[in-house]
Amino acid sequence: MISLGFQGQQNIMAKEPLDGGYVWYCHVCGDGPIGTSTHPACVQCGHARCGACKVTAA
Ligand SMILES: [Zn+2]
Ligand SMILES: [Zn+2]
Repeated sequence: MISLGFQGQQNIMAKEPLDGGYVWYCHVCGDGPIGTSTHPACVQCGHARCGACKVTAA
């Protein structure tokens, strides 16, 4: 019974529009949030995510 409830919470989280992992913000143009797994590079300026780009939980 406890496990069923836990699975229900996971299903809700799976509905997140982002990939459910992390998002990042381009430090060059400031675009974001960008999905880390879906877009390794900025969709606006093409900058590849680097250590200066802010990464946060989705
Ligand atoms: Zn950018
Ligand atoms: Zn950067």
